[in-house]
Amino acid sequence: GSERQFNFSAGPAVLPEEVLLEAKNELPVYDHVGASVMEISHRSAAYDKIEESAREHMKKLLGLSDDWHVLFLQGGASMQFYQVPLNFLPEDGSADYVITGRWGTKAIKEARRVGDVRVAASSEDDDFSHVPPVEEWDLNPDASYVHITTNETVNGNQFQKDPNLDVPVVTDASSELLSRPMDLDGYGMIYAGAQKNVGPAGVTIVLIHDDFLQQRKQPLPTMLDYGTHAAKRFNTPPVFPIYMVEKVLRWLDDLGGVDAIHAINQRKSQKLYNAIDGSDFYRGTVDEDSRSMMNVTFRLVEEDLEPVFIKKAKENGLLSLGGHRTVGGMRASLYNALPEEAVDTLVAFMKEFERTHG
Ligand code: PMP
Repeated sequence: GSERQFNFSAGPAVLPEEVLLEAKNELPVYDHVGASVMEISHRSAAYDKIEESAREHMKKLLGLSDDWHVLFLQGGASMQFYQVPLNFLPEDGSADYVITGRWGTKAIKEARRVGDVRVAASSEDDDFSHVPPVEEWDLNPDASYVHITTNETVNGNQFQKDPNLDVPVVTDASSELLSRPMDLDGYGMIYAGAQKNVGPAGVTIVLIHDDFLQQRKQPLPTMLDYGTHAAKRFNTPPVFPIYMVEKVLRWLDDLGGVDAIHAINQRKSQKLYNAIDGSDFYRGTVDEDSRSMMNVTFRLVEEDLEPVFIKKAKENGLLSLGGHRTVGGMRASLYNALPEEAVDTLVAFMKEFERTHG
């Protein structure tokens, strides 16, 4: 039998078991090429096919037109914190940032190294317990872009609507990409580290609209210029992570795409939020109108018991329920590949824990 347990890790995170088994089967010899996928040229026909399929599936799943470039880069989402302003924040210009948690805070810190940035809105004073409504943002009409974080992995909040503004929006969608359909109209760029919903760590997904791409500054260091990668395969890409991403995308497509997974994700998160809301023993950390479908953050009213909860959960096969080290408490990450049964098991465990410790 499988010894795999229910994995609530925030990232690197659970991958579909089917995908892991398929990769296992083809590990020593990939598709009759006489070597593993890790051992072949990134200029080979076999690799071309993998990357093309990954790109086409990404476009299909998100409904991206041919005006969008799908790039597979390195350096993590953290590299994007600097690469975005490097490409799009001109010396005489300014960019707006909406800060809803730890990752947006890191993003603006890097942007400040490049040029002039403004905080258009922030919920820091409320411990990032909500996403400030777009009507309340203090936007600069001359900004080069507005940077947002549509899902804050640590703080557990999520935009409930994709903003459509007068200037292009750039979002860090690391912990929500492909978990829901996106309204693409307002976006110039969407980026995500793969290691939550899309694949293993080691590749960063960058989706960039051609109109936005054309606005970038010149000249730029070759490797950090999005144009380099939009034009051609410039250097050795992370072949193995992209190979895994291609499998995850096909898995999602076979399952019915983002609409299908969105319905499942909504059900999964609703079950958990219902368990939290329906008890005086647990409490959520985010306002109801801003809470995340992907990263459910909660506390025990009696916080001293939290380490016991996390330890007991682990003994019961429920892994990685501890909150981020900077905020404590609990966090259950409910990414696409986490089976609904995992949430049912967690909810049953929570009821039992409350019964024995409440
Ligand atoms: N942004 C968000 C929203 C994240 O969740 C993470 C990783 N947890 C990062 C950025 C940083 O990603 P990476 O480690 O790939 O640089």
